[in-house]
Amino acid sequence: MKGFTTKALHAKPRVKDAHGALRMPIYENAAYEFDSSEEFGEVSLGKIPKHVYSRSSNPTVEDFELHIKSLTNALGVLTLGSGMAAVTTAILSLVKAGDSVITTKYLFGHTLSFFQNTLPNMGVNVKFVNVLDEEEVKAAFDESVRVLFLETISNPQLQVANLKNLSDIAHSHNVPLVADTTMTPFYIFDAKEFGVDVEVLSSTKFISGGGTSVGGLVIDHGIFDWRRVKLLDGYYKKAGHFAFLYKARKEIFQGLGAVLSPDSAYLQTLGLETMVLRIDRACQNALELASWLKDNKKIRNVNYPFLPESPFYDIATKQFRYAGSILTFEALSKEAAYKFMDNLQIIRRATNLHDNKTLIVSPYYVIYPFNSHEEKTTLEISPALMRLSVGIEDIEDLKEDIEQALRD
Ligand SMILES: *Cc1c(COP(=O)(O)O)cnc(C)c1O
Repeated sequence: MKGFTTKALHAKPRVKDAHGALRMPIYENAAYEFDSSEEFGEVSLGKIPKHVYSRSSNPTVEDFELHIKSLTNALGVLTLGSGMAAVTTAILSLVKAGDSVITTKYLFGHTLSFFQNTLPNMGVNVKFVNVLDEEEVKAAFDESVRVLFLETISNPQLQVANLKNLSDIAHSHNVPLVADTTMTPFYIFDAKEFGVDVEVLSSTKFISGGGTSVGGLVIDHGIFDWRRVKLLDGYYKKAGHFAFLYKARKEIFQGLGAVLSPDSAYLQTLGLETMVLRIDRACQNALELASWLKDNKKIRNVNYPFLPESPFYDIATKQFRYAGSILTFEALSKEAAYKFMDNLQIIRRATNLHDNKTLIVSPYYVIYPFNSHEEKTTLEISPALMRLSVGIEDIEDLKEDIEQALRD
C-alpha cells in the first residue's frame, strides 16, 4: 500500500468493532462497565487496556486516532476537541513557570493570544523573534528555553521559514521543534523529513471535510529523544519513548478535559478518507486563482507561496507538495474590500479555513478585532487585506464570481 488515498481508506491497525461494522459507529456513551471489581481495578491501573470513561478514551475517537497514526507512521497521536486544545496541550506539556518559549508573532490569532497573555501569566517567558532570521533565533536560546514553536505557513501572512534549519538549531540546544501544520497537513508536508518533532493541527480544517466539526491533533513523530527534557523525567521512567504523549494525554489533556466528541471523531474519520481529493482540488484552484489575480489592476499584493515571485517560492516548493489553499490580496482601500466581499455571490463571508466552499474574510476586522492598529501593521495586516480560503468549486465559476464582484 503506497498511495496516500489508499492508505487513507485502508491503513491499519484500526479499532475492530464488536459487530464487525465496516465503518466504526458512534459510541455515544460516557461510561463502560466491568464484569468484576478485580478487572475494574486492573483496568484502572492500566494493566488491561479497556475503556473506562469517555473523557479519557472512546472507541470512535480511538479509531480516528489510530487512523491518523497509521496514515502518518507516527509514534503516537492524541486527538483533542479543537486545534487550540492541540496547541495549548502540546506547549503546556513542555513548560513550567520560569521556563521560556521561542516563537514568532506571525501566528493564528488565538495562538498569539495564548503566547502573549496566558503563558506569561503562568510565569512562562515568551520570546518573540523573526523566525526568518536564523541568527536572531540562535541568539534567543539560553538555558531556560524549552520549546521552539511556529506555523509551517503563517496565517494570514503566509510566511514560510526553513524548518530543517530551525529544527537543527533547536536540537543543538536539546529543545524540540513544535509546528502548527494546519495550513499544510501530512499529505502536503512530511514533518519528520524536515525535523518537526511534534506536529499540532486543527482537524477542523482540511481533515473534517467541509467544516463539519471542530477538532485537533497532536502528533509525535518519534524523532526527539525525550530524555533530553528534564520536565519529562518522571514520565520517561513510566512510558519511555512515549513520555511526551503520556504527559500530554494523562496529565494536561485529561486535566483540561478538551475532549473530541465521538460525533466529531466520526465526521472527521469520514473526512480523512477524502482529504487527498479535496486537497488536490483546492490547492490547484488556489494556485490558479493566485496566478490569475496577480495582474488584476483592482487588487494588489497577491500573496501565495507557490507564485514564482513570492519571496518564499524556493523554500515552500522544497518543503511542501502544495502551498495550501489560502491566499491573500489587498483591495485599493478598506471600502473597496468591503464592497468586493459584499458583491460576491458564490464565495461566502465566513472565517473557517479549508471548507469545501470558498470563504473570504477581512483579517484586520474579523480575526484581529482587538489588536491595535500599530500591532496589526507590524503583523502585515492592513484594513484592505482579504484572506481567501479556496474551496473545491469549478474554477471558472470562482473566476466569474470574482470578476463580477470587482466590477464597479
Ligand atoms: C484554525 C486554526 C487553529 C485553531 O483551530 P480550532 O480547531 O479552530 O481550535 C490553530 N492554528 C491555525 C493555523 C488555524 O488555522
